[in-house]
Amino acid sequence: MVSDGTLTPEALAQRAKANGVELWALTDHDEVGGQQRAQAAAQALGMGYLTGTEISITFAGQTVHIVGLGFNAEDDNIQKGLYQTRGGRGLRAQEMSASLAAAGIKGAYEGALKYAGNPELISRTHFARFLVEAGVCSETNEVFRKYLTEGKPGFVPHRWASLKDAVHWIRDAGGVAVIAHPARYPFSATEEYALFSEFKAHGGQAVEVVTGSHTAAEYVKYADMALEFDLAASRGSDFHSPDESRTDLGTLPYLPGKLTPVWDLLTHRIQ
Ligand code: AMP
Ligand code: MN
Repeated sequence: MVSDGTLTPEALAQRAKANGVELWALTDHDEVGGQQRAQAAAQALGMGYLTGTEISITFAGQTVHIVGLGFNAEDDNIQKGLYQTRGGRGLRAQEMSASLAAAGIKGAYEGALKYAGNPELISRTHFARFLVEAGVCSETNEVFRKYLTEGKPGFVPHRWASLKDAVHWIRDAGGVAVIAHPARYPFSATEEYALFSEFKAHGGQAVEVVTGSHTAAEYVKYADMALEFDLAASRGSDFHSPDESRTDLGTLPYLPGKLTPVWDLLTHRIQ
């Protein structure tokens, strides 16, 4: 991956193949730089491939992720949108570092940058890895809990793209927009309803139902929401690293049979 995953696109493809995956998408945050390699690796191993990215947006004051699948990764407009989105990361990272320094943790920007390689792609995950390395916490989940989530010393609110822009970038480039891991957002029922309604109104077509960050009860809840809003369903591991991810590639349960899989909308885009 080229954002905050630890494996290369080729290693991911190998791992997916070994786990029986038939069709997959690499979804780096706000970036499509790994797409060609991922597609070539999938092809070499006889797997289907859809282009992918996971766009950070702000909705009702919270960060939400919108996955794009099957779009043309060379499209100028989506490339420009992703470039602008990445521009905000470097600045946010410096503010996070200042905030951690005020809490007694020095050098976090430089430490996180070492993991990211590129200030444009620096993410909270890289800070989490550095704080584990520095011995502040013993694992990355603990870092998020204590430092990198709202109200904690290293958290810096940030305004990303709008829901409308992200959905339009994806659709205009021939792809399908997907609400990623909806159970992860701290929304009230009203805000969540607004997210789904506005997403649909802007042309969004799918929701992630089965994902490494949902419980079995949440599969059921979002399967119902998919039907209620007439959205197709997707299934995503949210796999970042063998050491950090709870869910390995290709190991999640199948989508409930009553749903339309998102790849059924994208058969013409499978490479
Ligand atoms: P960013 O885009 O920089 O805000 O960072 C998002 C990354 O942080 C994603 O890769 C998530 O998987 C990861 N992340 C967000 N919240 C948590 C959490 N509570 N525990 C572990 N990882 C998280
Ligand atoms: Mn995400």
